[in-house]
Amino acid sequence: MDRHSLLAMVDTLGRALAERGLHRHVEELRVYWLALSRGLVGPGQRLNVGWSEALVVEWFRLLRLPPHADDYLVRPPSSPCPRCPQAVGHAVEVKTALTFPEGRKAVCTVCGTAWLELDALRGRSDHATLSS
Ligand SMILES: [Zn+2]
Repeated sequence: MDRHSLLAMVDTLGRALAERGLHRHVEELRVYWLALSRGLVGPGQRLNVGWSEALVVEWFRLLRLPPHADDYLVRPPSSPCPRCPQAVGHAVEVKTALTFPEGRKAVCTVCGTAWLELDALRGRSDHATLSS
């Protein structure tokens, strides 16, 4: 994407992370923003502070910020993989790729499908199931 669009996303993400108390990420992102805005790093290049275009987009997906709000399926905690058939007696293994204040990113170790599990959905899933 172009520098102007990426700078705007970095700015939005910085505020969203600060609201959630992720101050270490905010500090790193400030460095990335400075380097981007002064042309020290191009939008497609990785700045060696751990931030990149791909990670900005990943955090937009995790925090469900537009235009990436619907990139990951949102499911209740401890959900099984939506793609793999459920074997009788033993569940397909799901691992936590990343945790953030509102929940976690779950990844199926068999097919690689990723989705979000939000703590706010805990306890609401039964109701949603019954009313559908
Ligand atoms: Zn799977």
